[in-house]
Amino acid sequence: MTIDRRNFLKLAGTTAGVAAATSSGVAHARPNKKMPEEALGLLFDGTLCIGCRACMPACKESNNMPPELTPLKVNGEEVNALWDAPLDISGSTLNVIKAYRNGTAEHKDQAVDGFAFTKQSCFHCADPSCVSACPVSAMTKDPVNGIVSYSLEACIGCRYCVAACPFGVPRFTYDTPKPQISKCQLCKHRFADGKYSACAEVCPTGATLFGKVKDLKAEIARRKSLAPGTTTTFPRGRIGDNDTYVGQVGKYVERVYGENEIGGTQVLHLSGVPFDLLDKPPLPDQAPAATSETIQHGVYYGLLAPATFLGILVAAARRNMRAADEPKKPEGGTP
Ligand code: SF4
Ligand code: SF4
Ligand code: SF4
Repeated sequence: MTIDRRNFLKLAGTTAGVAAATSSGVAHARPNKKMPEEALGLLFDGTLCIGCRACMPACKESNNMPPELTPLKVNGEEVNALWDAPLDISGSTLNVIKAYRNGTAEHKDQAVDGFAFTKQSCFHCADPSCVSACPVSAMTKDPVNGIVSYSLEACIGCRYCVAACPFGVPRFTYDTPKPQISKCQLCKHRFADGKYSACAEVCPTGATLFGKVKDLKAEIARRKSLAPGTTTTFPRGRIGDNDTYVGQVGKYVERVYGENEIGGTQVLHLSGVPFDLLDKPPLPDQAPAATSETIQHGVYYGLLAPATFLGILVAAARRNMRAADEPKKPEGGTP
């Protein structure tokens, strides 16, 4: 085939058609992935939290995490105190209870002149951005319990997961022989011994509660159906066990944080103050992974058409060159 004007236009038309067909996939993001039916998670009810922070050392102990020197100001000078009271999650701290304060901070779970507690740890998203962004599957989501896990062996230290997580959860450690990512894995290493998340196990009030997400959601619905201030029995530790705590139902804000955010998460939060005061920003229902994967795949498909076109051009050019190199048959009749 020689590449004359007619053939060129034909090829251009074909590849433009391929490009149009493939790029149409870019227009619509794929649906959010759903969490498994038996997904496990945590419910954090800020109105039950008393700020004792017992869950923090329990988390460290259970995960063999070293203590951190918390910087303090003494006589105006910043010193490293020998006191493990981290203010945020880090390479050595997977779970932190943070306090909100306003004005006189007299009233619990009140936005003005009040205070409130919130928990920060991995949300175990239904459609996790960290899993989607990891190029070597070092972050994975269990298809049965939905726990998002990290593999040090597989990790290449690119930190794409750090950039991708909308909650700022994965932390990169620089002070270990092999740099690694740290994040809560729901204490799955304790399951084989019949145990569950250490933070929930030690929590005296059931403010952090472990269980199947469907059971946690039913418990949320029960709490929200009761009038604020009603005395009730709350499950404590692991939902379904017979451990309980008697307390009063909080005056909850309407939203359950994690129910819909970025496609839903397996760690759910109830609160008496608006979540944006608690460093829990409003996020869209659509998982970022759903959009970014669609764009990536669209780019790959989009590249297919020009690559095909280039391949056809190269093949045609080679053929033309071969034809030009072949010895020409003598014209006219044989002598
Ligand atoms: S979640 Fe439970 S253990 Fe943690 S600070 Fe609150 S009450 Fe204490
Ligand atoms: S909160 Fe962040 S680290 Fe945890 S599963 Fe979701 S995207 Fe991954
Ligand atoms: S589930 Fe385990 S690792 Fe996660 S915050 Fe609780 S104690 Fe820490």
